[in-house]
Amino acid sequence: MINVTKSYLGNKEKFMAYVDRIYNTGWLTNHGPLVLALEERLKEYLGVKNIILTNNGTIALQIAYRALGITGSAITTPFSFVATTSSLQWEGIRPIFADIDSATWNLDPDQIEARIEHDTTAIVATHVFGNPCAVERIQQIATKHDLKVVYDGAHAFGVRLGGQSVFNWGDISTLSFHATKLFHTIEGGAIVTNDDALAARIRLLCNFGIVDTDVIQGIGINAKLNEFAAAMGLCILDDIEGILEQRAEIGHRYELALADYFELQLPQPDSQRNYSYFPIALASERQLLRSREQLNDNGINPRRYFYPSLDTLEYLQPQVPQPRSRALSRKVLCLPIYPGLPVKVQNRVIQTLIQESIHSEQASRAMFHPLAEAFGLLATPQLSGAACKRIS
Ligand SMILES: *Cc1c(COP(=O)(O)O)cnc(C)c1O
Repeated sequence: MINVTKSYLGNKEKFMAYVDRIYNTGWLTNHGPLVLALEERLKEYLGVKNIILTNNGTIALQIAYRALGITGSAITTPFSFVATTSSLQWEGIRPIFADIDSATWNLDPDQIEARIEHDTTAIVATHVFGNPCAVERIQQIATKHDLKVVYDGAHAFGVRLGGQSVFNWGDISTLSFHATKLFHTIEGGAIVTNDDALAARIRLLCNFGIVDTDVIQGIGINAKLNEFAAAMGLCILDDIEGILEQRAEIGHRYELALADYFELQLPQPDSQRNYSYFPIALASERQLLRSREQLNDNGINPRRYFYPSLDTLEYLQPQVPQPRSRALSRKVLCLPIYPGLPVKVQNRVIQTLIQESIHSEQASRAMFHPLAEAFGLLATPQLSGAACKRIS
């Protein structure tokens, strides 16, 4: 089976040489030399002021909220991986969803202000599929209402906006280095901030609040990355340019072949993409399910990122429905994209999708014309919450 991604494994001998070093020093974790080396190299590669490595991307979000003193509620996007929302709820912060922009698929800045409540202290937005959010607008709103801004940058490794790292926006950006991500440390993550004092606080939070052997300053948790994980990161970082090039090549082929048939995510102007994912929006959920079945029959396993829309999570009900996110989440399918994906396989993906699309369009024209129009309505962004609920 060809999956949506395949974890990148760098050069094995190089990794083994790092493992030898770990065996020689006996230093396995707690700010070891490989973690420190990886932090230094990432800081330089990404072009950011402070980066603190963590043992996953979810705890990076949780620590970001703690470090910024976020309480009460936070405005967030319903179209993201579940951890963006669940990390808030886990930290006792009520997620308030604001709808997405139907073109960029990111949190729509025009939807934020109306959703702010008396206890709202933050905006938590995702650069979804690596596409930068409307960062200037979001910062304006945050400044006006005295809100903190956290960006879930789990998809945005290496993404640049206006010539600099997208992680330089917001009070904090978090990253995930999970094995399925573009750059990974098997499990891992990071917290980025330009504020040195904040960075120092974050380091304490990541290590039980321990200042040194005899001094504990406030509550903390264990979010430390280990040396084996850092070794994996160092090996992969050596190959990062090739990884990005191969992803871009595959992404461009998909774009050329599929842009006439499917809706694609609108890239933020002046941004440089990383092709961490290749999502397409199909005409309807029915077409998505049919296409997925056809792809499965051809040995290909695309994934529905992100479904369901997070405003439908059972443990958060009742919620104000977010119709654009609900409509989009029913239609988006992420296609296989990773270094080493054979062109032959990619062509099979493209052919299967186009055939199914043409077939279903002909079928709907021939037989279900009024019905197809009704389905077209489903994708209309202006559809009211109540209407959306009725249809679903
Ligand atoms: C992967 C991911 C996370 C969680 O990261 P982990 O390292 O798996 O904990 C958070 N947010 C988004 C958007 C993600 O894609």
